[in-house]
Amino acid sequence: MMYSQNEEELMELGKRIGQLLQAGDVLVLTGDLGAGKTTFTKGIAQGLEIKQMIKSPTYTIVREYEGRLPLYHLDVYRIGDDPDSIDLDDFLYGDGVTVIEWGELLEGTLLDEYLRIIIEKVDDGRKLTLAPQGKRGHELVEEIEHGTN
Ligand code: ADP
Ligand code: MG
Repeated sequence: MMYSQNEEELMELGKRIGQLLQAGDVLVLTGDLGAGKTTFTKGIAQGLEIKQMIKSPTYTIVREYEGRLPLYHLDVYRIGDDPDSIDLDDFLYGDGVTVIEWGELLEGTLLDEYLRIIIEKVDDGRKLTLAPQGKRGHELVEEIEHGTN
């Protein structure tokens, strides 16, 4: 469990995780509207050395950015439980990093190895819970919790 007091701390946490990510990694972000999923993704983008401004993909479903690795930033809220309405094979487990807001809506269908990060509001701060799935998910938790960077 991790805690961030404010937006800046949440982005710092995202940045640190972004620095650990490798090609093919998938992060599922779970949390209510306004929990901080997009804010956290901005931090991840910093960790991936992305210079472009991260905009919420709520209406476009996916946005792509160039950095140390490509970032595929998805918000699947609008496709609900019908993942067939978008071709996820184009990015999942490919040459980039995939971050999926509301990604729990796809669980049990397309995803097998990923790190799910649950973001919850606690007063003005945010509580983060890591829920890994598969070998790479567990490896990432190990690096996040015991890594040196
Ligand atoms: P989501 O993508 O989950 O809907 P956003 O990242 O778009 O959430 O929005 C989070 C909102 O909450 C922002 O307006 C941000 O300023 C605000 N906020 C307030 N406190 C915090 C905090 N401690 N951590 C992150 N965001 C915070
Ligand atoms: Mg968002």
